[in-house]
Amino acid sequence: MKMNSDHIIFQKIIHLKMIEESEKIKNHNLTVEVKYPEYKEAFDFVHKNFPSAKVKDQVIHLCDKVFLEKLGYEEIVGFYNDVVGMIVVVKDSETHGYISEDEAIVHELLHSVSADNKDEEFAYKESVLYFLQKGRDREYIIKYMSPYLNDEIEKAKQKLIEKYKVILEQELKQSIDKIINKTIPRVGD
Ligand SMILES: [Zn+2]
Repeated sequence: MKMNSDHIIFQKIIHLKMIEESEKIKNHNLTVEVKYPEYKEAFDFVHKNFPSAKVKDQVIHLCDKVFLEKLGYEEIVGFYNDVVGMIVVVKDSETHGYISEDEAIVHELLHSVSADNKDEEFAYKESVLYFLQKGRDREYIIKYMSPYLNDEIEKAKQKLIEKYKVILEQELKQSIDKIINKTIPRVGD
């Protein structure tokens, strides 16, 4: 019971923090609001695949990188605040070595339409076609998708480790039996 009520209190604190933070972002002097038809291709791409989500009504907040870092968002190109339904993207993201603003907008719009807003697999997989249509090369897309790909590679690695552990244990047992049988002849053999 206690853990449950603690959890609810924790959720409420997070909730309030996200509301407070969204106000700070909106009111910051370097924040720029982007609305459709700006970044038309990005909005149209998500709208075409998820027309009922009404993404064209979404407002994107382009924010200063240093300001976001002060809020605790480091090494991040954008995020979706699901408490208030706010999309934030780092301004001039490409000059900071990230994907471009329109690409980040596609990724974050997809978070806003996914049933589970935190579903990275959905945001990465559904956005890959946008990158290909833009003519981005595979190397660029692999770098963009590396958080997702690394998770998948790790899963595949663990599966292989488990598989070969069983084989290795069986072969080792056979080898041990062979050594023992060779060293200690069975009486009567
Ligand atoms: Zn994401």
